[in-house]
Amino acid sequence: MLIGGEWRRAAAGEEIEVVNPATEDVVGSVPSGGARDVELAVETAKRAFPEWSATDVEHRAGILAKAAALIEERGKDLAATLTSEQGKPILEARGEVTHLAHGVRFYAEAATKVRGAYQELPSAFGPAYGMVIRRPMGVCAAITPYNFPLTLLGTKVAPALASGNTVVAKPASTTPLATLEVARIFAEAGVPDGVLNVVTGRGAEIGDALVGHPDVRRIAFTGETGTGRHIMSIAGPQLKRVTLELGGSDPVIVCADADVDAAVKAVIIGRYWNAGQACLGCKRVFVHDSVYDAFVGQLVERVGRYEPGDGTVRAEKPKLRMGPIHTRKARDELLAQLEDGVARGGEVLIGGGTGGHDKGFFLEPAVVAEPGVDSRLVREEVFGPVLPVFRFSDFDEAIRRANDTPYGLGSSIWTHDARLIHRAAQEIDAGMTWVNQIHYGYDELPFGGVKDSGFGKEHGIEALDSYVEVKSIVVGGLG
Ligand code: NDP
Repeated sequence: MLIGGEWRRAAAGEEIEVVNPATEDVVGSVPSGGARDVELAVETAKRAFPEWSATDVEHRAGILAKAAALIEERGKDLAATLTSEQGKPILEARGEVTHLAHGVRFYAEAATKVRGAYQELPSAFGPAYGMVIRRPMGVCAAITPYNFPLTLLGTKVAPALASGNTVVAKPASTTPLATLEVARIFAEAGVPDGVLNVVTGRGAEIGDALVGHPDVRRIAFTGETGTGRHIMSIAGPQLKRVTLELGGSDPVIVCADADVDAAVKAVIIGRYWNAGQACLGCKRVFVHDSVYDAFVGQLVERVGRYEPGDGTVRAEKPKLRMGPIHTRKARDELLAQLEDGVARGGEVLIGGGTGGHDKGFFLEPAVVAEPGVDSRLVREEVFGPVLPVFRFSDFDEAIRRANDTPYGLGSSIWTHDARLIHRAAQEIDAGMTWVNQIHYGYDELPFGGVKDSGFGKEHGIEALDSYVEVKSIVVGGLG
């Protein structure tokens, strides 16, 4: 792990093996950190804060811009590491690295454009004015999941550093390798020792020490809703600033006038990219009666082109590569959800098998028609390549069913009817609604959920606000 510019072993000396989910080979090992390592990392980040926060913002932006350029330059190697530990196909890993570089550059530029405010004030004691300034907070914890280890690191580390904070990052224990490489790149770009630290280890063992540390003022977490609740139970009583980017079950509404071809293509990417292990994926699709058969026919035909396999090997055209599910446990959970969907009335139109592989945690991408509203495929987050589809005939009913979930992360609608677009924007309870577009997290737009999908925003210039404290200054004695 990286603490204060030094590459260290865990204080207790233990290691965690990192396993390739396609081959089940061990591809590396990292220190299994404990509370003592967290203590050292936070103390180091705290010591580095005064100097880093006092640096000129242009200087910080320059370092981040250099890091973005280095990330692009080393894109091939970073992608190879990411594929080996996470499983995603190389093409998708390259896409994630490019997105990381874009996000880091976005905050490098955005941080230099932040302005404060000036306010004339009424005063009985002579002329006075007010200013609103923004000050960095101190030590921020960045806790990331296994599905997009790099982009989700960037959405935390880049705005934190650009705003003048210092960071202790904790990657998922199954995907620490690419994160450590990125930390090395940040150091090479000029981030001073102690400003960005990475502690590796199991969340269950070091999470509480990091989240509960009194010197960690800000926690940026992405992961499961259950873990988010636990983090909140520790951070809440200490009144820490928290953003929680949690699970989702995004609805997609395909209306009678939809461009079916475009909708199918977008839903395929939205559900099967990253083997469906995405927070903002298309997770429940409601299709108008009049286009249902055309939509489902095309969907099943295209899903049949996927070939699950090792992400380092390209599929022969016209097949498309899909990587493995990240762990055996997650794959088995998906199989249980699928089985429950079938037991509650769903019909598997394609996929759902695991066959043909001696090693690895594979699942053939599946489409399931009409599983019951009480099924796990509808009630729970489905974190893999299994897509339930439903018919609707009445738009009110589609909106009601879209909202009938504990989650509220993304959503989309496919129509050119301005009234329906307006209603979806106003009535779907979610942090985002895409119109005739794929579910994608743009660096330019604030992104985050409502309900059990969490709160607070990442992405966009707005995310910078959650890494600063707003302070009012009153200046008098001017007369
Ligand atoms: P987890 O919640 O299991 O893990 C996320 C991170 O939290 C990991 O680094 C994990 O460490 C750590 N962690 C685990 N326990 C604790 C603890 N007690 N205290 C502090 N940290 C802890 O999520 P997954 O890795 O399974 O990721 C998938 C989830 O992430 C899905 O629900 C998905 O929807 C969500 N997600 C949300 C996004 C959004 O923007 N809303 C984007 C992407 C994913 P360790 O690996 O060691 O257990």
